[in-house]
Amino acid sequence: EWGTISRNDRPAIWESLQFRFGLSYILIILGVLLLLNSYPLLVSEDLVFRSKTTNLQASVAVMVNSLSGLDRLTEENVSAAMSVVEETGLSRILVTDNAGRVLYDTRETGGAVGSYVLYTEIVQALLGEDASSCTYQGAAFRSRASSPVLYQNQIIGAVYAYEYDTDQAALLAGLQGNLLRLSGVIALVVLVLSLILSKTLTRRIGLLLNAIQQVREGSYSHRADIRGGDEIAQIGHEFNSLTDRLQITETARRRFVSDASHELKTPLAAIRLLSDSILQTDNIDLETTKEFVSDIEQEAERLSRITEDLLRLTRLDSGVLEAPMPVDVLPVLEQVLRMMNLVAQEKEVDLTYSAAEDCAVLGTRDEIHQVIYNLVDNAVKYTGSGGAVQVALGRAAGEVILTVADNGAGIPEADLPRIFERFYRVDKARSRAAGGTGLGLSIVNDTVKRRGGVVEAANRPGGGAVFTVRWPRLEGGGNG
Ligand code: ADP
Repeated sequence: EWGTISRNDRPAIWESLQFRFGLSYILIILGVLLLLNSYPLLVSEDLVFRSKTTNLQASVAVMVNSLSGLDRLTEENVSAAMSVVEETGLSRILVTDNAGRVLYDTRETGGAVGSYVLYTEIVQALLGEDASSCTYQGAAFRSRASSPVLYQNQIIGAVYAYEYDTDQAALLAGLQGNLLRLSGVIALVVLVLSLILSKTLTRRIGLLLNAIQQVREGSYSHRADIRGGDEIAQIGHEFNSLTDRLQITETARRRFVSDASHELKTPLAAIRLLSDSILQTDNIDLETTKEFVSDIEQEAERLSRITEDLLRLTRLDSGVLEAPMPVDVLPVLEQVLRMMNLVAQEKEVDLTYSAAEDCAVLGTRDEIHQVIYNLVDNAVKYTGSGGAVQVALGRAAGEVILTVADNGAGIPEADLPRIFERFYRVDKARSRAAGGTGLGLSIVNDTVKRRGGVVEAANRPGGGAVFTVRWPRLEGGGNG
């Protein structure tokens, strides 16, 4: 177990994505709601304050105006002057002389005429300044305003007005209530939405996580089933194709291992059988012993061919390549053909070639040798006596092309696509009898691909197989 988070290591609730998403939604919406419930109220309250004090100040100014021209204020001349003033909607009007003694009071019960009232606003007015204030409490707006009354620049008294208003206060309270109810609804909707959203989000992430864990534990056929087109669905898609590749690689690896062990098992079993026969047979004669030992040697040779091929393939798989250098193909081809000519003559196969000059590719001499050898060896091997094998080396736009054609039985169309797979053979018995390992063509394919080339197999219209190798051509020739 080398993972850091196993299936049982679920994150603590406050570490989970769902919790964090949910919490951030809720915090954001709480902030917004707080703003919604305070800012508009504060603004409208302020607006009411301002309009109230302005209006009240204007009413006071009208009253002060009607008192102007009097040189001294008395109860009589004040009430005479005030009786013509329309007192609209004001709760109380007070007029005092310059000492603060009340000369006129509109309050019916408990009027303060004759006594001294020293409200802040009145004191300020008597000091020569206009004053006003407004408060909102107890579901009512209370506003006050006052101004001095002057006669020849002398302060002879003050007018004070007071308004108690519950109508606008009720409007404001209504607004407040509405906002609160609205906020409640919004909060509820957001809560439910955020729960649903974070739930679906984390559910899909959970699905993905679960799929990853299953695959990690070895069930390569498991796929993440995540629908949609968002990033999580994309991750799911990518994960699935990654798993596809993993599965293919894993299947290939398993098959390779089982094929390889099978291939190794056959010669080993033969060796055991042969040596057992020698050991078990009493009075075995020298001739028979030699024959058996020679068979053992052949099997041992096959074993070493297989292991050599396997090692070669492993090296190709590992991706560690020898540094490429320019190689002229023609000398290598001629060397292979010199060697193969002996085999061909022995098998009565006619081996001919045509070649162009100046065919250089990037690679190593050994690997080019291996490619040509494997293809020519196959062609000779799978073409019966009396057959013909033609090798051609040529070049075309940017490519060096090698073709190896024979007039043997060819390859069944159904097998053509699989011919380059490891251990794949059309006719197992024939291949074994001919000393094949089933790895030759995959070595060719891998080697050529590693250097940027391609190999193709096809059947010739007149019968027989043709293999074509294309390497990227190196301009300027090689040093052979
Ligand atoms: P082997 O060691 O069996 O020759 P290869 O990988 O070289 O393995 O070839 C795979 C199979 O392809 C062979 O077993 C054979 O059936 C088929 N094959 C390869 N070359 C030819 C050819 N020139 N003509 C017909 N069949 C061929």
